[in-house]
Amino acid sequence: MNYFPAFFNLKGQRVLVVGGGEVALRKVTLLERCDALVTLVAPDVAPELVERAQRTPDPAALGSLTIHTREFLPDDLEGARLVIVATSRRAVNRWIANLSDARGIPVNVVDDRETSRFIVPAIIDRDPVMVTISTGGTSPVLARRLRERLEAFIPKRVGDFALWLRGLRQTSMDRLRDTQERRRFFETLVDGPAAQRFIDGDARGAARLAQQLLATTATAPRALGNVTLVGAGPGDPELLTLKGLRALQDADIIFHDRLVSSAILDYARRDASLVSVGKSAGGTSTSQAQINALLIEHASQGKRVVRLKGGDPFVFGRGGEELEALAKAGIAFSVVPGITAALGIGAYAGIPLTHRDHSHSVTFVTGHAGKDGKEPDWRALAAPGATAVFYMGLARLEQIVAKLLEHGAPADRPAALVAHGTLPNQRVATATIATIAATAAALESPTLFIVGEVVGLQATLGWFNAESGADMSRSA
Ligand code: SAH
Repeated sequence: MNYFPAFFNLKGQRVLVVGGGEVALRKVTLLERCDALVTLVAPDVAPELVERAQRTPDPAALGSLTIHTREFLPDDLEGARLVIVATSRRAVNRWIANLSDARGIPVNVVDDRETSRFIVPAIIDRDPVMVTISTGGTSPVLARRLRERLEAFIPKRVGDFALWLRGLRQTSMDRLRDTQERRRFFETLVDGPAAQRFIDGDARGAARLAQQLLATTATAPRALGNVTLVGAGPGDPELLTLKGLRALQDADIIFHDRLVSSAILDYARRDASLVSVGKSAGGTSTSQAQINALLIEHASQGKRVVRLKGGDPFVFGRGGEELEALAKAGIAFSVVPGITAALGIGAYAGIPLTHRDHSHSVTFVTGHAGKDGKEPDWRALAAPGATAVFYMGLARLEQIVAKLLEHGAPADRPAALVAHGTLPNQRVATATIATIAATAAALESPTLFIVGEVVGLQATLGWFNAESGADMSRSA
């Protein structure tokens, strides 16, 4: 990061503006609204500025504007907390910037990022709500475009709404038990019909809803915790569902698998606790019994717990086992499905899992042997017109291929290995079941193994990352 984002309280602080034109006028306007004590120095001063300085001050305003119609002098920097330089002379701008910097006073030179100690973002002003956009000085045009788009999303009355919420703070402190309860009260207000009423201009209706909510929250028994089992999808963070996103933003604590990417965890509320209970192949891991106990422990404390798993929680994800433990402990739960690896990878690798001409069934199989040592139905998996998708199959690839051949699959049946599916480093290797094992050495986990005529369509239908050479079978 090149810049530290911050908001500066300038109330009653001296700010020096050097320059007397249009740009200076805009800066002065903003500074006055921040109640800064502005001194402006310039040999030529725009008439609007002079008028502004002569106006009888608004008694409520703490800020002021003093104008010196002359050249800048180094002594002008005395006592300034911030300096904004906006003359049309580049050398003068730089000289003033150097002087300011030497004295440790933050300085901005308009349209000269190199010389500036701080830069000024594009803003959406819904006082006291302020949305600011910075491209780190790389493109003011982009910043403006982003601002225009965001403008449309941010209600005009959001600033008043924020003030209204502040007004409810004391009441909520008096009436609600603890911070957790207060947070839920405000979340319900912000997410629910009260916010909509207020934004639509019905402040009274909103207040009525707030009072009702306050009463019911205060008399309700302490909120019970619960667990939401959420599928994070196969990798691409945009494949998370809207409901999953909501659950992440509401959670007090999130227990996630190691495979879940940080881009998805970034969707969590800032103050939520993130706990990795990943099972790394061979590495340290949390046992299933420990995970179950953690979920129960935290939900029993009244927390909203999210258990976040790769893909879908019910597809080779042990989600069922976790819920059984919760049910036994009497903990409330719900499930948000996710896009399982087979579906995500079918889409991103260009392998339709069924197709009227090639396959009328698809089976998801685990490449691991089950607890009881039972085997899948190899004859069905080897049958013509069937697609078989093996999860966790990389380590046992050769045994899987041997079983398929043994049960009648032809040696030239198309097969694919897809590693890191749906992610920028997705790798697709296509071959036949007889030759696929040779491609495996170049692939890392997680990898999905797909067998069936439909894999033959990959050469035509592969679209994702197609240019980057990620498709090993075609670049080979
Ligand atoms: N619940 C998960 C599966 C967990 S089992 C789901 O529904 O997708 C873990 C196995 O899933 C891995 O061994 C691998 O075979 C497969 N897998 C998960 N994500 C994958 C990805 N991005 N690319 C390839 N395979 C993946």
